Amino acid sequence: MSKLTDISYVKSVLAKHGFRFSKALGQNFLINPGVCPRMAEECGCSDNVGVIEIGPGAGVLTNELAKVACKVVAVELDKRLLPVLKETLSEHDNIKIINGDAMKLDFVRLIQEEFHGGEVVICANLPYYITSPVIMRLLEERLPINSLTVMVQKEAADRICAQPGTRESGAISAAVNYYSRPEMLFKVSKGSFLPAPKVDSAVIRLNILKEPPVAVQDEKLFFRVVKAAFSQRRKTLSNSLSSGLSMPKQEISLLLDRAGIKSTARAEEMTMEDFAQITNTFFSISNQHL
Ligand code: SAM
Repeated sequence: MSKLTDISYVKSVLAKHGFRFSKALGQNFLINPGVCPRMAEECGCSDNVGVIEIGPGAGVLTNELAKVACKVVAVELDKRLLPVLKETLSEHDNIKIINGDAMKLDFVRLIQEEFHGGEVVICANLPYYITSPVIMRLLEERLPINSLTVMVQKEAADRICAQPGTRESGAISAAVNYYSRPEMLFKVSKGSFLPAPKVDSAVIRLNILKEPPVAVQDEKLFFRVVKAAFSQRRKTLSNSLSSGLSMPKQEISLLLDRAGIKSTARAEEMTMEDFAQITNTFFSISNQHL
């Protein structure tokens, strides 16, 4: 068992460096010994597949990733953790820690410079305050990675992994399903963290697709339609699209009619194909008007 899941060891290293947990940075460190080895095993890193970690914290997951992967590059925003990581990960020579912000870092460049065209995956216990923006950023950049294995709050995991067209789905389900095939791997109880958060978590894997599952004529428009449709998820599509796209309800009804979608339908009933159909109809109508 790794000493990094021994609470008294972790507390003593953190205390030695004068570290105090920051709620604002989503600092809940894993102390359940079963979780990190399983994440390292399921994320797809290996002797010839490198891994990028976001937010190594005290290094508990980094340590397990370094045992399996040829190389680990970990990006940590909090400078105070750099001396901690130097101490806790001293026995590995295949880890590089970068002090940076996952919301701003140039990952395309990082992958080129650190992995030189080799295969790469991402694995992280994400800070909760930026779960969706980080996931969307990494997907939208179309990074040359095989998959993204991340721990997120259980409720977010359910939403992200929901199939569009089902009650649990939301704008994030459609967006994630456009770039990847999401998979729920396992649940993690709130007692697995120091300090314990208020809610349980889950580990999910987003397997990156080579091609989107539907053909859309304008990607930006597709995401605008999805966002508008879910902006008022309890309302009918014609209402939510009308206010979300700032278009008269009459025009939206015509658009939905042409796309073969009932205007009384709701966003959660829409499959990826339905959203693509609405987007492509909208695209051709707009271009006819030009
Ligand atoms: N990986 C560790 C673990 O599992 O115990 C820590 C996970 S903790 C939930 C999230 C980590 O992300 C913290 O170390 C926090 O400082 C770091 N973090 C927060 N915002 C970040 C950002 N924008 N970029 C990179 N790291 C960030």
